[in-house]
Amino acid sequence: MAQAYDKLESTTSRLQMADDLAVFFKTVPPGLIRNVVYLLQGILVPEHHGIQLGIGDKLCEQALSKVSGKTIKQIEAAYRKIGDLGQVAETALSVKTQKSLGGGSLTVEKVYDNLYKLATVSGEGSQDQKISLLAELFSQASPTEAKTIARFVTGRLRLGVAESTIMDALSVAKIGDKTHKDVLERAFNLTSDLGQVAETWFNQGLDAVSQITPQPFNPIRPALAERLPSAKDIIERLGKCSVEAKYDGFRLQVHKYGKTVRVYSRRQEDMTAMFPDIVKATLDQLNADEAILEGEAIGYNSATGQFVPFQETIQRKRKHGVAKYAEKIPLKLFVFELLYADGTDWTVRPYVERQAELARRIIAGPILAQAETKIIEKPEELENLFDKLVGEGLEGIMAKDLHAPYSAGARKFAWIKLKRSYSSKLADSLDVVIIGFYYGKGKRTEFGFGGLLSAIYDPNEDRFRSIAKIGTGFSEQQMADFSELLQKDALKQKPNNVDCLIEPDVWVKPRHVITVIADEITRSPVHTCAWSDKEGLALRFPRIKGFVRTDKSATDATTESEVLELYEMQRQR
Ligand code: AMP
Repeated sequence: MAQAYDKLESTTSRLQMADDLAVFFKTVPPGLIRNVVYLLQGILVPEHHGIQLGIGDKLCEQALSKVSGKTIKQIEAAYRKIGDLGQVAETALSVKTQKSLGGGSLTVEKVYDNLYKLATVSGEGSQDQKISLLAELFSQASPTEAKTIARFVTGRLRLGVAESTIMDALSVAKIGDKTHKDVLERAFNLTSDLGQVAETWFNQGLDAVSQITPQPFNPIRPALAERLPSAKDIIERLGKCSVEAKYDGFRLQVHKYGKTVRVYSRRQEDMTAMFPDIVKATLDQLNADEAILEGEAIGYNSATGQFVPFQETIQRKRKHGVAKYAEKIPLKLFVFELLYADGTDWTVRPYVERQAELARRIIAGPILAQAETKIIEKPEELENLFDKLVGEGLEGIMAKDLHAPYSAGARKFAWIKLKRSYSSKLADSLDVVIIGFYYGKGKRTEFGFGGLLSAIYDPNEDRFRSIAKIGTGFSEQQMADFSELLQKDALKQKPNNVDCLIEPDVWVKPRHVITVIADEITRSPVHTCAWSDKEGLALRFPRIKGFVRTDKSATDATTESEVLELYEMQRQR
């Protein structure tokens, strides 16, 4: 497995990666495939289980010191010099001076078991236990294995292999080609559990995978919306359609099973503890024993009834002071989807049927309400509704195809968004990934932060390509916060899943997403987004909106093809 990681890390071609991975998968015993897939994703269990490894560099250094016979100081010095704990581990353990604690060669089961324990021990003495668990692995590891383990536990593997690459490889390993990749993808989108899908595929085959349906407490990956430049384009595309208010809050998926309710974010994190109000409302206002709903939560002012801006609503995403903020910023949940209810998979049914069923299932009350919708046939009607809703402070509209199923995990024209435009030319904001930062000059040096280098995502190649340097519009607080946040993810060199021609002062692991608005998209000789013929695309006068979008992961960022679409829309205007 360590060799497989090595091979994957040394290639940037997604096709090559899928081929190498398929060869590797063929060697994995069926009973191990599930955990092997998780480890390749850089996780131990799916995100929604809420178990995270996340150990600091210090703990890893201590474990290394324990087995290599080197002092902590020596390990730290090597780390400062090399900048990669993986390589430090590799070198330190290639000249092991202490005798192996356990002996025998390391197995995937052993690695997985120890890491799982490491992630779940707590309470008194847990630090020492963690060090021992990790030291035990190092003591049995070959230098290459130690490198991989050190990178894994400190979160420094490259992003983890893209899910779609893993699915390609799973398909090839079992049947020799990618014919059934769509079936795997569908199952993954409905369960958010690639390990489970892999196991079912390997051990039970195609029929079993195609029979996977939504289950309470397995979050479904969200359907995404396309953009079109105008009401006219939308009606041309969809004909008669449903137009819903687009609320500017955050998306939640609510699962109910008997008396238990769990709430998930759009990236499948379990957020139940943050929203006792939504949990209670679901028990009171949902007429179903089992159900999966999706909606947008938005804060409102309890005195005036008006919606509050996104920056205020987002304060409800917090670990501490939950009760106080629930009172300060009460939420409404505008439900726009019913995905599952009492044994029936609604994702496959047409929009109109899902909506009708949703209406039957929601009981009127203070928090849950069905999103406002209207059936529209003419562009002028759509424009009027858009103006009315924007006038009421909403973000815009979502037009929905009356006949489409729910497109879990995919961006389709089943949903088309039209937003209030922030500037004359660019129809939408972009969600970009931070790939580096600058120290800045003058006053900014005191914060150790002077600007960001940002990128969009190309899911086909699994690469991040630069699109903008953002040097203005930061408050002092933001500069201090960025500086603190990004130092933690600093890398010595450009990550190998990034395409970029410019050098920031510090590279960072592509993981944090920010929303930016800009005046327009221009051609650029330095940015690599949509690179062709010695030119790419860049944002002109980019400015940040808010802070890091904790509800989005790097692979949820605006994609390269979306930027091309926006560029085309801008030209048409
Ligand atoms: P965007 O983030 O701009 O791509 O817009 C998509 C997001 O809009 C979804 O992920 C939801 O969080 C949010 N949203 C707000 N109102 C609706 C609605 N009526 N239907 C679907 N999504 C909505």
